[in-house]
Amino acid sequence: MIGVLGGTFDPVHYGHLRTALDVQQLLGLEQVRLIPLRDPPHRPQPALAPADRLALLHAAVDDNPRFRIDPRELERSGKSYTLDTLQSLRAEQPHTTFCLLLGGDAFHGFPHWHRPDDILELAHLVVMQRPGEPDPQHYPDRITHDPAALKRQTAGLILPLPVTQLEISATRIRELLRQGHSPRYLLPDAALELIQQRRYYQAG
Ligand code: ATP
Repeated sequence: MIGVLGGTFDPVHYGHLRTALDVQQLLGLEQVRLIPLRDPPHRPQPALAPADRLALLHAAVDDNPRFRIDPRELERSGKSYTLDTLQSLRAEQPHTTFCLLLGGDAFHGFPHWHRPDDILELAHLVVMQRPGEPDPQHYPDRITHDPAALKRQTAGLILPLPVTQLEISATRIRELLRQGHSPRYLLPDAALELIQQRRYYQAG
């Protein structure tokens, strides 16, 4: 099974990485694909260009063989739809089970995504939750609490999974940098070094 974590990663931080590692370990995933979005359908454009966000991701995770950066959305023109991404992954690896990793907030908006039912034909969803948080409301018939169930069918289940809570956001990191403060300890040092060298996110 392969996990798929999409995001703007503007920049990548420990909120992304720790939760991805939690899910990788709890489900025994072979790999987590980190897929930066080029042109997010539901939010403002990222502050950094695709190549720069990709460079930060490489600096952050290249020492972890379980994490793989997948640039396919950056190479595609137009809006980044998760359905297109899953279709292309499935075409490459027809026998692999894919698990789309989503925060509880993102899952809340999932029914309004582009063709959510078709997404559920191609992947399971893993909804990363706060410990003790109630189950998500949508698709009650698809919810399971048994990680082993994800191995018995190739797609269509929704697994709520409690993960480490870190109050870190890329927005906050960009704000700190704009104010001339350090975001150290919120993201990997190697990514921060690159931000400083290249003067990313700085005022003016
Ligand atoms: P921004 O502050 O710019 O909106 P962000 O920090 O939320 O960015 P994204 O790249 O938009 O980061 O997030 C990608 C995915 O990672 C989303 O599914 C989001 O729910 C999840 N995520 C982001 N921050 C955290 C965090 N601190 N803990 C757990 N998951 C997170």
